[in-house]
Amino acid sequence: MEENEKIRCLIIGSGPAGYTAAIYASRANLDPVLYEGMEPGGQLTTTTEVENFPGYPTGVTGPQLMEDMKSQAQRFGADVRYGVATAADLQNYPYKITIDSERVVEAYTLIIATGATAKYLGLPDEQKYAGMGVSACATCDGFFYRKKRVAVVGGGDTACEEALYLAGLCEKVYLIVRKPFLRASKIMQDRVVAASNVEILFEHTPIGLFGEKGVEGVHLIKRAGEADEEEVDIAVHGFFLAIGHKPNSDIFKNYLKLDAIGYIQTEPDSPRTNIPGVFAAGDVADNTYKQAITAAGSGCKAAIEAERYLSEKGL
Ligand code: NDP
Repeated sequence: MEENEKIRCLIIGSGPAGYTAAIYASRANLDPVLYEGMEPGGQLTTTTEVENFPGYPTGVTGPQLMEDMKSQAQRFGADVRYGVATAADLQNYPYKITIDSERVVEAYTLIIATGATAKYLGLPDEQKYAGMGVSACATCDGFFYRKKRVAVVGGGDTACEEALYLAGLCEKVYLIVRKPFLRASKIMQDRVVAASNVEILFEHTPIGLFGEKGVEGVHLIKRAGEADEEEVDIAVHGFFLAIGHKPNSDIFKNYLKLDAIGYIQTEPDSPRTNIPGVFAAGDVADNTYKQAITAAGSGCKAAIEAERYLSEKGL
């Protein structure tokens, strides 16, 4: 039988965390192999302009930023490959990862940088207006809606946080909540209620978007399924989803400590997981900051940890 390929530093995921880990690991001669995953470049490839990544004073597009990180990693010899990690066996060392359900590679250190995926409602219009008014990240895209009207969907802490962030930039923010109450913590609810330019639309469900060249408004149903159900339209230029993220940690759930939502739990201020030699970086382990720059920082830490682990083991 053909032997599995053995990899000293295997990185899964190609967002800022994965590529930064690859830059550091390749410069440390760890011969990293990086599998790009389902969405090469990660979540940033779905945004347009990135204006808050240090080093780009006039901004950079998300896809360009990721292309730059990739070529920087390749310049030092990182082996970047197409392929999706579809299964994991972290029981025995070296750890085994199945790629594309067909091939197994073995890793002496593993950096999980598989990210998180923003949840969408599933409306066809969300795709139709992708990059034209629909966003799942207020910190990334809110700036483009300065002094305009926007809507945020969701009733949790993220939705409240996004609504408050946008309230500081926009003329008016509608918070669209499907239930008659917010699920968010009391303090966040109080802040949203106190914000003079945030209007909460309880018991409203978005059913579609409209607009000629981009989003100009949302079709909503008020009190869907009730006797007094009615259709309501609101005029907005931005439509922000804040109905939760799903960390891409499924294949590791039998081995790694996850929180209730599925985020990989790491040691405080470290990418170390509960399994030696396995590190988690970026959004798959971060339910708090979720920024490209914080992901990149944790990818750097993961590569440094991998280097220490390998050298302690003499590998
Ligand atoms: P949550 O799961 O807490 O909330 C999701 C919200 O989206 C809920 O109001 C939910 O409605 C709504 N929703 C879900 N699906 C749909 C849908 N199809 N249509 C309409 N509405 C929908 O996710 P969050 O991202 O807000 O928070 C995740 C976790 O992170 C929470 O534990 C939160 O407390 C924490 N967090 C903490 C923060 C902080 O402390 N500063 C900041 C951000 C997050 P419904 O209530 O009806 O189910």
